[in-house]
Amino acid sequence: MSLTIRCHLAISRSNRIPALPITLTHRMTHTTTSTSTTTTRQSGTEAAPPSPPTATAGDQRSNNHYHNTPPRLSPAGAKMANSKYEYTRAFENPRYLLPNTYVILRLDGRSFTNFSASQKFQKPNDSRALDLMNASAAATLKAIPEILIAYGASDEFSFLLSRECALFNRREDKLVSTVVSTFTAWYVFLWSRHFTEEGEELQTPPSFDCRAVCYPSVGNIRDYFAWRQVDVHINNLYNTAFWALVIKGGVAGKEAEVELRGTLAADKNELLFSRFGINYNNEPVMYRKGSVVYRDYRTPEDEDAEGAEPSASVKPPKQRKQKEGERGTTAIQERKLKTPREEVGRRAGKARIVTEHVDIIGDAFWEKRPWLLGSGN
Ligand SMILES: [Mg+2]
Repeated sequence: MSLTIRCHLAISRSNRIPALPITLTHRMTHTTTSTSTTTTRQSGTEAAPPSPPTATAGDQRSNNHYHNTPPRLSPAGAKMANSKYEYTRAFENPRYLLPNTYVILRLDGRSFTNFSASQKFQKPNDSRALDLMNASAAATLKAIPEILIAYGASDEFSFLLSRECALFNRREDKLVSTVVSTFTAWYVFLWSRHFTEEGEELQTPPSFDCRAVCYPSVGNIRDYFAWRQVDVHINNLYNTAFWALVIKGGVAGKEAEVELRGTLAADKNELLFSRFGINYNNEPVMYRKGSVVYRDYRTPEDEDAEGAEPSASVKPPKQRKQKEGERGTTAIQERKLKTPREEVGRRAGKARIVTEHVDIIGDAFWEKRPWLLGSGN
């Protein structure tokens, strides 16, 4: 034991060797614990669980070296460092999303099967839960003016950033964490406005994961949103049929699964109509189409007019169109990063944030709202 302590002290002073002191320190702790446990048993009293090892200043110094030896700061960097610990900054490894690409940030409920069960969500859809998702998405759009449009259903939402977006210099971890935490905070904050009855309080904190994906073209973005809306249709038709069998038909869940296995959309429509009198097309449009949330720069009068242009009083943020031959050049990117965020926020702040349940697979939605896809439209 004395040998161990000598080694440990020597290594702590050297302040550089990562693995050896930890091994020795742990071995020493383990031996001490085993001995005390054995002693307790021999004394005939009830065996107590071994107490955790107490961290000493030496242990903490050792733990700082669990990872690989850090990269050395250059002499110039060392002079500029505020403290000897600042070298740990060198481990940060930020990832910047590709310039000149659209960015989709898609968040998704974590363990929402369990969460919805604990909150007793109605099946197959709970309009209160969907309204809460939509309200949280609208609040996220308001908080982050750079978001052009959001689309969601069930427990997921996708947020679109423009190709020119320079928020956080397009740093992925900042964008992902800001969007998902803003959304989650609003989801919790707004809960009681949508679940108002006694006994409907939050039972457990909800959480969402989030990912960022870059897409190079308008076509990709259109296809992405089409993919999500087709998914909503497929899932909702299946869920409507499944829960009709279970709730109205008294069929066990496993049997309902077997009955629906391999069926086409037409089969499910027929099953719903012939056995339960449900015309799927009459189901609430929010369930069938999902929800799209965006800034509308048109006045209500504009909306009534066919093929209306955005109102003269409220214009969407200007998006600089690229000239032929300029795509992807460094010069263009540098100019874009200087776009003042305040200007985006000022103009976006004048727009109404609207939530609609409409087809976004066809051209009509996008053609009537040309500002949604930024300069790429
Ligand atoms: Mg999900």
